[in-house]
Amino acid sequence: MVMGDVATGTDVLVIGGGPGGYVAAIRAAQHDLDVTLVERDAYGGTCLNHGCIPSKAFITAADLAHEAGNAEAMGIHADPAVDMAGLAAWKDDVVDQLTSGVEKLCKANGVHLLEGTAAFKDDHTARIAHGGEGQGMESVEFEECIVATGSRPLEIPGFSFADEPVWASKDALAAEAVPDELVVVGAGYIGMELSTTFAKVGADVTVVEMLDSALPAYDEDVTRVVRSRAADLGVDFQFGEGASEWHETGDGIEVVTETDEGETASYDADKVLVAVGREPVTDTLELDTIGLEPDENGFLATDDRARTEVDHIYAVGDVAGEPMLAHKASAEGVVAAETTAGEPAALDHQAIPAAVFTDPEIGTVGMTESEAADAGYDPVVGEMPMRASGRALTMNESEGFVRLVGDGETGFLLGAQIVAPEASELIAELGLAIELGATIEDVASTIHTHPTLSEATMEAAENAMEQAIHTLNR
Ligand SMILES: Cc1cc2nc3c(=O)[nH]c(=O)nc-3n(C[C@H](O)[C@H](O)[C@H](O)COP(=O)(O)OP(=O)(O)OC[C@H]3O[C@@H](n4cnc5c(N)ncnc54)[C@H](O)[C@@H]3O)c2cc1C
Repeated sequence: MVMGDVATGTDVLVIGGGPGGYVAAIRAAQHDLDVTLVERDAYGGTCLNHGCIPSKAFITAADLAHEAGNAEAMGIHADPAVDMAGLAAWKDDVVDQLTSGVEKLCKANGVHLLEGTAAFKDDHTARIAHGGEGQGMESVEFEECIVATGSRPLEIPGFSFADEPVWASKDALAAEAVPDELVVVGAGYIGMELSTTFAKVGADVTVVEMLDSALPAYDEDVTRVVRSRAADLGVDFQFGEGASEWHETGDGIEVVTETDEGETASYDADKVLVAVGREPVTDTLELDTIGLEPDENGFLATDDRARTEVDHIYAVGDVAGEPMLAHKASAEGVVAAETTAGEPAALDHQAIPAAVFTDPEIGTVGMTESEAADAGYDPVVGEMPMRASGRALTMNESEGFVRLVGDGETGFLLGAQIVAPEASELIAELGLAIELGATIEDVASTIHTHPTLSEATMEAAENAMEQAIHTLNR
């Protein structure tokens, strides 16, 4: 159908239907604004279609198979076979339920949905190119615009995602068969989550990382637990090596790496997953038309109300910078929407939690001990090793710890680092505690259910006060 170049008007135009954009659109509509959301690919964005949700579905299924096959200590003997096509179908069904839910929620809140690629025409007009040959263009005039165009995976020289054996995370998550041998380039959180998961479903995994450690954003003792578990699962780590090229061999490919000293090595594989980071998507927007220039890394600078340098243009989510996380995108989307509605909203990045769904999981929020010291606090630290947790032992998952960091002077909780089963869930309590301005003593005196993993947060708080019962105080 040829749409012709019709022009419509809207109070708020939201570009991008990921967790930044769709949340912004719904919240703006809840404030009785006329809202149009334009998405060029799939509602739910990277998170629902190619990121958080399919990866966690895959991880859960791989964990289930691995746990069932490794439960001899519990008297369970099983040898589960993973049918990747079946797993992929289930994962796709989960994704479909959520993406169609986003579409329904938008419509139910009165958001106008437009499919196509948006670019600025002038300060108050965007042109929407509908997908496909002959599908036409239309213009939307807006009072205010929220840019939520997200990010895409970075390629490295010699490894084009257009080549079939080279995978971006999206391709790895769409796999319908487990590669016998997988090389993963990059030991950041996406590389670590997927290398552990593919190892659990039977791939021989080699991780190549230019730096000398995995998950460099986290403290060494946090990553040590995760790295050593991954190594136990058979993941072979090659630190200090950068992938430089790949070649076809008779029955697969070989990935060539190089060290800083120029030494080379090569690893056989069927596929190579490049997970070296992500870059913001701004190139299709024609930002120069409205006088908006991204910074040297491509991000759009924003203030604490998600406003860019151009008065009525907002930016939220991955396009607005680190941390590139779905819940940060949604939080910014809410603030941008409420600001367009004239509400007194502002961002508070004090307590953005982060989780890595490795084995065991990592959950963090707020400051580490060294960050607290650098910020001028006299930090007090309390820890509880998971081997002292009754619940962790009953789950046969007792590696890791809970660590709380408080201000030695006032007792206020400043941060927490957790390496434990369900750390992604456990961290929420401590995010709330920081938001509410709780002290270490407040956490210690909150009665926690027994036997649960969350008791470890109470015990770690008691440990910080040198009043731990189940562990030795330091
Ligand atoms: C493998 C993987 C696992 C992840 N796991 C987690 C996790 O566990 N937890 C977590 O918090 N985060 C996770 N993330 C990160 C998370 O997906 C992103 O932080 C989040 O999706 C960012 O949301 P966004 O709304 O900014 O952008 P996106 O979700 O990327 O959405 C942007 C949307 O804008 C659309 N778009 C772009 N340009 C245009 C245009 N010109 N016109 C119209 N539409 C346009 C795109 O099609 C896209 O749908 C993961 C990411 C990956 C890749």
